[in-house]
Amino acid sequence: MQIIHSIDEMQCLSEKLRKGGSKIGFVPTMGYLHKGHLSLVDLLKEQTDTVILSIFVNPIQFGKGEDLEKYPIDLDGDMKLCQERGVDIVFIPEGVEMYRKGHSTLIQEEKVSQGLCGKTRPSHFQGVTTICAKLFNICQPHTVALGQKDAQQVVVLKRMILDLNFPIEVVVGDIFRENDGLAMSSRNSYLTSEQRRDALFINRSLRAGQELVGQGVLNGETIMQAVISTLRQAKSIRLDYVEVVDRNTMEPKQEIIPNQSMIVLAVWIDKVRLIDNLIL
Ligand code: AMP
Repeated sequence: MQIIHSIDEMQCLSEKLRKGGSKIGFVPTMGYLHKGHLSLVDLLKEQTDTVILSIFVNPIQFGKGEDLEKYPIDLDGDMKLCQERGVDIVFIPEGVEMYRKGHSTLIQEEKVSQGLCGKTRPSHFQGVTTICAKLFNICQPHTVALGQKDAQQVVVLKRMILDLNFPIEVVVGDIFRENDGLAMSSRNSYLTSEQRRDALFINRSLRAGQELVGQGVLNGETIMQAVISTLRQAKSIRLDYVEVVDRNTMEPKQEIIPNQSMIVLAVWIDKVRLIDNLIL
């Protein structure tokens, strides 16, 4: 397994790999890896010849007062997991090289990024699209793997890839959950044991919505209310949003269309913001 820090070195190697006929798969991450990240590596191992995983805590996707300074880091642990999982190249660029003095170009997706998480975190998706465009130009993947856990991010990045003509295929990995149903997230490490117990209501609330659909209820508002009332049972949970949306556009929908509609939600547990979703 190669570990590369320099942008030039990474870009030269990707060019060489492409010229040699190697199909490159790429997993962009912010590190503190868990089984969800690694399931994306597994997806690409099946479909590509060389898997690159990047670790970069991207400062410009964090708003003022968010958790950039305390975002968890464990590079040694990450390297071990990457090695065990068969990652070929780990790319760990430096912030000062990624955003050189004078960096003044940002990429803004104007539609999908505006609602849901974009409302609470206004510059977040601009940070995500900008860093991903840069990483795509550096790592030059044929295929990129993204997690369904960040459903809105998937739609925003697919839109950017189409709009900016990146010759990249997107594969989307299912949400990887703990045994008790909590979606894996680097941010789960912030939770106290009491908060961790309350966090179980997140998945429980999604399943309450799903259950209604199973009983034939197809009204989005009714589903949302069921989700909200389950979340309210947890003392420490504050709602950011709960919506029923079209999974391909992230637009709110009144009527559920099976396999096309999804519940998306974001909640606060004290200062920890967690997101989750379920395709109905
Ligand atoms: P992050 O390090 O949080 O930026 O995530 C990097 C990639 O891993 C993104 O494409 C996420 O959607 C994906 N990811 C994060 N958590 C999970 C999970 N629990 N299951 C599957 N993929 C995930």
